[in-house]
Amino acid sequence: PPLHKQRHQFVIDFIKKYKTKKVMDLGCSECTLLKRLKFHREIEHLVGVDINGAKVKKKMHALAPLSTDYLQPGFEQLCVELYQGSVTEPDARLRGFHLAVSIELIEHLLLPDVERFSEVLFGYMAPVHVIISTPNSEFNPLFPGLTGFRHPDHKFEWTRAQFQSWAQRVCVDFEYEVEITGVGLPPGGGLKQFGFCSQIAVFHRLKGGFNISPDERSQGETSYTLLQSINMC
Ligand code: SAM
Repeated sequence: PPLHKQRHQFVIDFIKKYKTKKVMDLGCSECTLLKRLKFHREIEHLVGVDINGAKVKKKMHALAPLSTDYLQPGFEQLCVELYQGSVTEPDARLRGFHLAVSIELIEHLLLPDVERFSEVLFGYMAPVHVIISTPNSEFNPLFPGLTGFRHPDHKFEWTRAQFQSWAQRVCVDFEYEVEITGVGLPPGGGLKQFGFCSQIAVFHRLKGGFNISPDERSQGETSYTLLQSINMC
């Protein structure tokens, strides 16, 4: 399957394994992953955030329930919210989730914004699990004719060592542990030399018992704009 599907499948497999009920997709773009997630009965609350509201709106109608969706077991307890906002800004409505996913987002941020994002995500939203994916620049020589970055909007592309050092610093600063893996194997072998095409860090919060009350969520700061709220719960 194409790489973007492999990244999304990685997230789906994780959700099935950990049974995470409240999931947010940061940098959800055209809601492709959210659309796949809405049929996973483990999930009760789905949130998408993107700085580009027009992109989110383009296909978000596909997240609204069809009459046939109600035939899916467990579907009626799903609640979906879509926001326009920058993941470098805190918003209390995104605290206390089980899983935050951010697929191919960080490389679109300037490095000082990556620092802000790390603080907001791990320090303030503080989800139990986090999945972050980003290109592995060591894989780039395998793309024929590629000279610069994989996409003109990328602000950086990290080697495995650079990604690992960012991830380990996050763990020390915010009390998480991390495993690094990836998707997209090099053609004809060479995983050791080139690594995966997309590198993926999976974080788990070390300290338990941190729970955000509904009051803290409703009375805290709000910097995102609600675009759509679909309530089946
Ligand atoms: N996660 C998507 C997926 O798996 O299909 C793809 C993400 S796309 C490559 C990067 C997205 O990040 C874009 O939709 C862009 O608008 C969004 N983005 C860039 N900077 C952002 C920010 N500061 N806050 C939120 N979203 C941002």
